[in-house]
Amino acid sequence: MQKRILITGAAGFLGSHLCDKFISEGYYVIAMDNLITGDLKNIEHLFKLENFEFYNHDVTKFVHIPGKLDYILHFASPASPIDYLKIPIQTLKVGSLGTHNLLGLAKEKKATILIASTSEVYGDPLVHPQSEEYYGNVNTIGPRGVYDEAKRFQESITMAYHRFHGLDTRIVRIFNTYGPRMRLNDGRVIPAFIGQALRGEDLTIFGKGLQTRSFCYITDQVEGIYKLLLSNYSLPVNIGNPDEITIRDFAEEIIKLTGTQQKIVYQDLPENDPLQRQPDISLAKKLLNWSPKVPREEGMKKTFEYFKSLSKEELFKKEH
Ligand code: NAD
Ligand code: UDP
Repeated sequence: MQKRILITGAAGFLGSHLCDKFISEGYYVIAMDNLITGDLKNIEHLFKLENFEFYNHDVTKFVHIPGKLDYILHFASPASPIDYLKIPIQTLKVGSLGTHNLLGLAKEKKATILIASTSEVYGDPLVHPQSEEYYGNVNTIGPRGVYDEAKRFQESITMAYHRFHGLDTRIVRIFNTYGPRMRLNDGRVIPAFIGQALRGEDLTIFGKGLQTRSFCYITDQVEGIYKLLLSNYSLPVNIGNPDEITIRDFAEEIIKLTGTQQKIVYQDLPENDPLQRQPDISLAKKLLNWSPKVPREEGMKKTFEYFKSLSKEELFKKEH
């Protein structure tokens, strides 16, 4: 019998790639999104398929799906710092009320549910690299707290449903992931730098650029999530690429990649911007026999091709 999977946040970057993956694996995909930061163009190629349907719905409101459900992937949430600073209450609600609704649905349908957590649960980490055992360093009342705490609550309520209701649950802690279909104006560093290069603007580094990140290409991330869902492991698992780089060196790489003549300019570092971030992926390697395959150079080339293919209108569209 064909497996049925509900994917929330389906019109977003990660959600749309997950829809593609599960379609290609022969699943019946039920996509759900309220389009607050997503775009239907990311999934419009799936609309003609018989094993795909889309619900325009806000998951903080009661979620009803007719028929059986085998799996739920809960990916709905603003994910970039400028998005969640712009819509802080919705961010808290989708992580808390939205997750509660989806756990309730999973319980009713006896479905396995995987929730999208984040490296942000580690906050501005005092331990490096970050392994799943680290409890994190989050400022609950700082501007990023709305996202970090929503995701920490999401993990807690998921474990509570697992422990108290015996629900089959998975938690993926996603580290910075990139690739085609990221929104050009979502403010994250990769679309920001590439967009600036394509528009002929200077590249804006926040702070001195000595903060680090470790970027994972989308196909690697999707494969890790897929393997985790099909495992039987209920505690959190880091999925990311440990190849760490400072934002300053990364800006230099993007200048080379894009061939831009523009320079780097320095702006204030946002409050509580983590100083360093690198996943310890020993657990994912051991448990899932998974490790990232796509080197940054290759992934960034593909990502640049995608952004280059966007229209002038999209390139110059102002959102913020
Ligand atoms: P995205 O903004 O591209 O996608 C999020 C999607 O969720 C959007 O389509 C948006 O419209 C939808 N959404 C938001 N609130 C909703 C609601 N209340 N009801 C229904 N739909 C709603 O972001 P993304 O990068 O694809 O992130 C997807 C998930 O992965 C998020 O949960 C995010 O926290 C998590 N994550 C992503 C990264 C990353 O590097 N991309 C890192 C860590 C965690
Ligand atoms: N950043 C930057 N310039 C930009 C956008 C981001 O220097 O135009 C920095 C940001 O301060 C952070 C890093 O790049 O240190 C990664 O930012 P992003 O928003 O992509 O993700 P996150 O901070 O959530 O890891």
